[in-house]
Amino acid sequence: MAFDEDSRKTFPCPCGKGEIVLRYGSDDRGNYDSRNELSCPECKALYVHEPMYADLSEDNHGWVLKSLIEEDRKFKAGVEQKAKELYLSSWVYRLGLAKNKKEIWALTRGNAGICLKTFYKWSDGKSLDALRKEAEREFYYGNLKRIFIVCFVKPDLDALVTNEQDKKKLMKDLGMIVNS
Ligand SMILES: [Zn+2]
Repeated sequence: MAFDEDSRKTFPCPCGKGEIVLRYGSDDRGNYDSRNELSCPECKALYVHEPMYADLSEDNHGWVLKSLIEEDRKFKAGVEQKAKELYLSSWVYRLGLAKNKKEIWALTRGNAGICLKTFYKWSDGKSLDALRKEAEREFYYGNLKRIFIVCFVKPDLDALVTNEQDKKKLMKDLGMIVNS
């Protein structure tokens, strides 16, 4: 795709031997576009551009160590596994208390991000039990905060993680206050 550059900014790459180049301009349809490139072979081997994970690293304009992303993925999978053992039953119980589709929607909408009307359309013809069953799958790391709230669960952090660093990370993700 064609890219017309209007301006650029450069920053040192993480190792300092090369550059992160941010280019601003427009694509071939004239729409605003930007590019973020790492012009350092050494860093390119170690980093990926994943702005979603930017909080894992120093400000490298969205470039994050691959190893950190992998570590993060393992951390989340570990917590999720443990949380399932301890609290999936609470979630299933809570879903069981939902008396109608609207309540199922209220319990899960934060995750799906869809409005009630759309949910009704999507769930048309599905039984309440089928919807409960599907909602059980919403039990995953990114949704734990919400699940703990709606299930009135006070998570046992020491059972979910094994060290202080992970505990802080988990507390932050669960929206709990962290003392530094
Ligand atoms: Zn570098």
